[in-house]
Amino acid sequence: MEFEPSEEMSVMLAMINDFMRREVIPLESDLLFGDPVALEARLAAVQDKVRQIGLWAPNHPVEYGGLGLSMVDHGLFSEALGRSPLGHRAFGTQAPDAGNVEILHRHGTPRQRTRWLEPLVAGEIRSCFSMTEPETPGSNPTMLATRAVRDGDDWVLNGQKWFTSSADGAAFAIVMAVTDPDAEPHRRASMFLVPTSTPGFELVRNVSVMGHVGSGADSHGEVSYQSCRVSGDALLGQEGDGFLIAQERLGPGRIHHCMRWLGIADRSLEMLCDRANERAITPTETLADRQVIQHWVAELDAEIRAARLLTLHAAWMIDRHGAAAARDEISAIKFVVANTMLRTVDLSIQVHGALGVTDDTILAFWYRHERAARIYDGADEVHKTTLGRRILIRARTSAHDDALVSPLLVVR
Ligand SMILES: Cc1cc2nc3c(=O)[nH]c(=O)nc-3n(C[C@H](O)[C@H](O)[C@H](O)COP(=O)(O)OP(=O)(O)OC[C@H]3O[C@@H](n4cnc5c(N)ncnc54)[C@H](O)[C@@H]3O)c2cc1C
Repeated sequence: MEFEPSEEMSVMLAMINDFMRREVIPLESDLLFGDPVALEARLAAVQDKVRQIGLWAPNHPVEYGGLGLSMVDHGLFSEALGRSPLGHRAFGTQAPDAGNVEILHRHGTPRQRTRWLEPLVAGEIRSCFSMTEPETPGSNPTMLATRAVRDGDDWVLNGQKWFTSSADGAAFAIVMAVTDPDAEPHRRASMFLVPTSTPGFELVRNVSVMGHVGSGADSHGEVSYQSCRVSGDALLGQEGDGFLIAQERLGPGRIHHCMRWLGIADRSLEMLCDRANERAITPTETLADRQVIQHWVAELDAEIRAARLLTLHAAWMIDRHGAAAARDEISAIKFVVANTMLRTVDLSIQVHGALGVTDDTILAFWYRHERAARIYDGADEVHKTTLGRRILIRARTSAHDDALVSPLLVVR
């Protein structure tokens, strides 16, 4: 087993960490207090610098101007960027674009790639992913209600979506819609590339989340599709491939998110330690002298290390054996890392006291924005049920095998 990143990756990580400290983290005060338009302009200038140092779009294929990193290296990259809410945008690898690039690369026709993939990787446009609906359970998308019906060479979409993150200002949406309600559940839906300028596409509102309506890339749109007509070549992949493509999008996406969350946990723990070392609670002692704080630090450090190893192992499994073979690992990291990250942010706020709930540090932003980690990309309970069920079936099967084998052993 090899635990060292390659020499090339170590150099890259040192460059990213330095760049994040100098260029990205200083933008956070604009994110918390500033004008969103001014922030976009400053972010665009930082993105140019990232292009100049050759680190733009790490997860994208080399032929499209990315770095074409392996899943393990992409994970390490994502952890370093996760230390700031602006890290992924600064380096051109933010959700939902990162996942959309992934599936466009695999399933897009040459025409679709030229029209959407190239400008997306270059950072010239943004996109969104429109699957979840207010009236049907996101945890069971076989119940999706949005319909796409053929009309001549066109498709006509009707339905209501929400939590279409970053729809505000996006150039196109990848929409999941039912194309054959009579097919077996996982062949009912297909994916469509819908330009947001299409008549019938309406951004109804940016949904307010934890007191924050947001705008642009930092928003969650409710979108209505009313007689929204797209041409035949808007279909992504084959008709009925919707679930297959959604599944492919989720595996690498979870490595991206989990390592991003570990970046949040790393920085929150560092902040906790700095505060504990600085904060005098008596004339001769700081918070760091209290055993409860020492225990929190030890537990969090161990939990973060364990979560990182689990996630990098899942990434290694995807690199080595493909996302389907890594199903157990991908389910496990989703709930383990989300909870580790949330506990670290929460305890860091606790150690900061009243300062922790102010917006004078980034902790309260994360507390609000990252609570959703236990819900999107599969709620904790869904992953635990799926993983637990698979483990129990395997145990049953191997017990059955043992039962078959043991009489033979006795006879011998
Ligand atoms: C910040 C944020 C960003 C998002 N971005 C996007 C996006 O860009 N595009 C998009 O399409 N969607 C997006 N989503 C939607 C997300 O994918 C869904 O919220 C998620 O799939 C859960 O669906 P739901 O909200 O309908 O909850 P439901 O399916 O109604 O489930 C509610 C709760 O019930 C429990 N539950 C559900 N099923 C089971 C089960 N089988 N066993 C036990 N308990 C269960 C869980 O606790 C779950 O949290 C986003 C959501 C959030 C919060």
